[in-house]
Amino acid sequence: AAVIVAIDGPSGTGKSSTSKAVAAQLGLSYLDTGAQYRAITWWMVNNGIDLTDPTAIAAVAGKADIVSGTDPAAPTITVDGTDVAGPIRTTEVTSKVSAVSAVPEVRARITDLQRSIAKGAEVGIVVEGRDIGTTVLPDADLKIFLTASPEARAARRSGEVKGSDVKATQEALVARDKADSSRKTSPLAKAGDAVEVDTTELTLQQVIECVVTLVEE
Ligand code: C5P
Repeated sequence: AAVIVAIDGPSGTGKSSTSKAVAAQLGLSYLDTGAQYRAITWWMVNNGIDLTDPTAIAAVAGKADIVSGTDPAAPTITVDGTDVAGPIRTTEVTSKVSAVSAVPEVRARITDLQRSIAKGAEVGIVVEGRDIGTTVLPDADLKIFLTASPEARAARRSGEVKGSDVKATQEALVARDKADSSRKTSPLAKAGDAVEVDTTELTLQQVIECVVTLVEE
């Protein structure tokens, strides 16, 4: 049967790099669910939706056509046919995504999309996010929860974003995690049956090996 791996955790824990590499090594598909929440946020920003108003967000939750390409060697994301891989990584989208992803109508819509992609993955799939093990795919074969110290996470993230300073990055990251962990609908959380891996003192290669070993067990 197809193998389903759920990898959750806050940002800066190496979640994306790990998930992609594990999927590539094992010949599985890969889904970045954060990119989907970013894509719907990008659409809302582009369409002038008032993001301080959850009712306004809910009213248009079904409008954007979001398509994810699941090849771990070249993942893609489009909105209404437009490639948004670059635009979804701006600081504007990053600062607004938590408000959009907290709206239950948005989560319901994106969760449906995620489940249908996972179901369609023939060999199997690695799905990374915040609520995959708890809510989206509670029957996953393996659930991993990645953590790291706030300092390590900020240092990694600011290494990825050109011209950013570590302190500002850490503040923004902590604020986003707090919002993601405190929302009412499927917050960032570790599933009861997830394996927690603290990546603070590990290299990316060590984290990848650890997860691959757990999948193969
Ligand atoms: O993983 P990434 O940092 O790109 O995720 C962006 C945002 O998308 C998160 O801060 C969170 O608000 C939202 N998200 C979510 N549930 C997921 C994945 C991401 O709410 N499964």
